[in-house]
Amino acid sequence: MKVIEHLRNADRTLLSFEILPPLKGKDIRSIYEGIDPLLEFKPSFINVTYHREEVIYKERGQGLLQKVRVRKRPGTVGICAMIKAKYNIDSVPHLICGGFTKEDTEDALIELNFLGIDNVLALRGDAIKSESSFIPEREGHAHADELIHQIAGLNKGKYLHDEEQEAAPTDLCIGAACYPEKHAEALNLGTDIAYLKRKVDAGADYLVTQMFFDNAKYFRFVELCRAEGINVPIIPGLKPLTTLKHIAFIPKTFGIDLPQPLASELVACKSDADVKRLGVEWSIAQTKDLIAKGAPCVHFYTMGKSEAVRSIVGAAF
Ligand code: FAD
Repeated sequence: MKVIEHLRNADRTLLSFEILPPLKGKDIRSIYEGIDPLLEFKPSFINVTYHREEVIYKERGQGLLQKVRVRKRPGTVGICAMIKAKYNIDSVPHLICGGFTKEDTEDALIELNFLGIDNVLALRGDAIKSESSFIPEREGHAHADELIHQIAGLNKGKYLHDEEQEAAPTDLCIGAACYPEKHAEALNLGTDIAYLKRKVDAGADYLVTQMFFDNAKYFRFVELCRAEGINVPIIPGLKPLTTLKHIAFIPKTFGIDLPQPLASELVACKSDADVKRLGVEWSIAQTKDLIAKGAPCVHFYTMGKSEAVRSIVGAAF
């Protein structure tokens, strides 16, 4: 079933979460261990991230280095098919522009269609580490709105080439990303929302936010989007802080501000356990408030560690 149908049929705030494919060489059990503890809360859908290749340099002796492209977390589509088959829960594979030509994208969409997967979250992806800014493939998409346009086209039976006679349309529900505190590369929130509108006009059925720690920013963002004619559901995405490392990298990596009451308690934390206790408490309060104010769904970034999310969902839903 499509995410948008789950949202339309709901008479309460839904629950969903995101998992990462395991690192190459790890087996699928880590995925079960991420999903199983959350099953009792009946998630409506589970997202699976897509990870682009990284460039690494291998020593080849005599001072020679070989540049190699490696995908460290392959398996997104396979995990989505497994989730549907094993758990009978709808899955949402993430699909990115980076590293994909339009042909590659079309092939990936055909594969999802054949597997009976009804959803896709369409993203641009980030630059690979060796590049200072995002570079699309020569025959690929530069932004998520172009990718969404291609998916929406395939939903109408528009394949890339005309040879496909009486081509069967796909029927994929399309999600896209949004940023209550603006995307790191955006000039300001206004331009970011203007580009967001393009994604919705291209065919995005719903949006999922980047993580945030201040609900007022989410509600303000929803208001701004509505004022610009973006009327699709906007699902808030939450991530509990659980380690001292999170405090250092989350604000910098995602361009997010931590609200003062949270920040002043975080600076007093001495261990991961302290951060986790506070992070879980903070997320419970955020989730309760989002539910009370009628958010369509609360989406958790589990990063494969569902224990903290289990405590939050257990207390708030
Ligand atoms: P875009 O919508 O293309 O926006 C990128 C930037 O360009 C923004 O600053 C925007 O204002 C601007 N812009 C947008 N459209 C245009 C246009 N037409 N012309 C000019 N400028 C434009 N990354 C992964 O690699 N794998 C994942 O699985 C993944 N999952 C994610 C899930 C969620 C819910 C979120 C919020 C992010 C996820 N990301 C993932 C990260 C995402 O790929 C990055 O944030 C990326 O930098 C931007 O992706 P986007 O789809 O928002 O890009």
